[in-house]
Amino acid sequence: MSAHRADGAPGQVKEVTSLANPLIKEIRALSLKKFRDEQGAFIAEGLKLVIDALDLGWSIRTLVFAKSARGNPAVERAAARAVAAGATVLEVSEKILTAITRRDNPQAVVGVFSQRFCPLKDVRPAGGDVWVALDRVRDPGNLGTVIRTVDAVGAKGVILIGDTTDPFSLETVRATMGSIFAVPVAKASQEAFLAWRKGFSGIIAGTHLKGAVDYRSVDYGNRPMVLVMGNEQQGLTDDLATACDRLLRIPQAGRADSLNLAVATGVMLFEVRRGSLRLTDDEARP
Ligand code: SAM
Repeated sequence: MSAHRADGAPGQVKEVTSLANPLIKEIRALSLKKFRDEQGAFIAEGLKLVIDALDLGWSIRTLVFAKSARGNPAVERAAARAVAAGATVLEVSEKILTAITRRDNPQAVVGVFSQRFCPLKDVRPAGGDVWVALDRVRDPGNLGTVIRTVDAVGAKGVILIGDTTDPFSLETVRATMGSIFAVPVAKASQEAFLAWRKGFSGIIAGTHLKGAVDYRSVDYGNRPMVLVMGNEQQGLTDDLATACDRLLRIPQAGRADSLNLAVATGVMLFEVRRGSLRLTDDEARP
């Protein structure tokens, strides 16, 4: 990018050195949910994530890159794509990137994107589709890890039920390692989810420490499925547990009373999707 300007008009590159700059203040505010909600925006860190997001058609509002990355061909290409998409492009000091990302040694590129939720009415699992529904998930690391695992295992998306942690917080987006851009996320109150469930003819499988069925004994077949996982402290609400077609249990040894939510989700998903993930003979050969 060669056009450097001082006014920061969309489609141009602006150099910013002051934390007091209003554009920087607006981006820094995105570390708070209130402002993310108000702006309908969020921050993603790293050149690879920004490129993946652009490839997947996410709408970029601002691209911020470190002065030290000026001249880097990949960064320049990403900046040119952002300009072409009508985004503002800012060249900033490392101090500003540290403030935006709230971490030392920040990534050289940060993107501000528009949030995107999948409306619940558009969640229509078919064939062997698997969706994961999370009841009141609290921990950003858990949510990000679940989204990443859903992506890795080829499941279709995530439904957030009730009052949950924000999928677009810095911590969650970081934990998704880019999968936030590949995995549709829907959100619903428990009531809305239970109403939606009435129109869904596939299997609703809950996981529960008191589940009657060993998760390995089930033939998951090729039917659409929603896997429902409970809150970190309280597990599933009674209403959600009752709405499930079956409650599955992962047998445990030792003294731990339960598995971590994201670990349990991973164990379940790899079992449910086992048939779809089988390696070919060639791949399996050492
Ligand atoms: N104290 C909580 C309880 O009583 O359910 C523990 C919740 S656990 C940390 C979070 C969620 O992970 C559970 O609600 C369940 O969905 C899943 N989970 C964890 N360990 C499990 C197991 N051994 N079998 C089935 N589900 C499990």
